[in-house]
Amino acid sequence: MVRARGARRGFATEAGVVIALDRIDLDITRGSFTAVMGPSGSGKSTLLHVLAGLEALDAGSVSVDDLELTGLRDTALTRVRRDRIGFVFQSFNLLPMLTAEQNILLPLELAGQRADPAWRDTVVQGLGLADRLRHLPSQLSGGQVQRVAIARALIGSPAVIFADEPTGNLDSRTTGEVLELLRRCVDEYGQTVVMVTHEREAAERADRILTLSDGRIARDESGPFAAAAAEATQP
Ligand code: ADP
Ligand code: MG
Repeated sequence: MVRARGARRGFATEAGVVIALDRIDLDITRGSFTAVMGPSGSGKSTLLHVLAGLEALDAGSVSVDDLELTGLRDTALTRVRRDRIGFVFQSFNLLPMLTAEQNILLPLELAGQRADPAWRDTVVQGLGLADRLRHLPSQLSGGQVQRVAIARALIGSPAVIFADEPTGNLDSRTTGEVLELLRRCVDEYGQTVVMVTHEREAAERADRILTLSDGRIARDESGPFAAAAAEATQP
């Protein structure tokens, strides 16, 4: 589903070249939930950006859904990102003059598509946004803004959703809800999800945990993990 081969990305800085990704090989299977952990600066965001076609590689290749992203022209890449990839950014990127509902539906509108009404309701209700749809981002709490950003990524049922610390600023209850929704997207709708998180407990809701260190995959663990087991035994 998502594949990287020898993926390398460096950044020129005043102190010299920083290798953010050091020849990463990775296969992510369809319908799986993968968490990416690792210290600050280990390359987590860069990995998500290159897998989503938001940043180019210096060497190596990335493909999504059997489509090679490496070397695609900008217009083709834009179409792939729009049609196949959902991205939840660390900074959410909502448009301030659009309501929550307009923000959620924007990617579909840009693609000239309509939301399936049942799926739209599932997403909106699953994220507890039904009574917030007419609000502007400035009228929403941080947690609500984050949920709108997640709804926007889910609404088009993309081949894969990348989420960069989607629960970063949320209280523990909202964090639990967001993780539960991502988990349900995988289990009930066969969605593929790749999520960066700092918290081991959040990562343990995934099927697989990758730990990055200095731009390499230092650890690759397969679940089920303790947190998933704890959740499953709750009444
Ligand atoms: P993480 O998300 O794990 O904190 P990043 O992927 O953001 O790590 O960054 C990995 C490394 O690449 C860090 O050393 C960071 O400083 C560097 N880096 C990332 N983006 C840029 C950029 N646009 N310019 C220069 N250096 C960058
Ligand atoms: Mg980051």
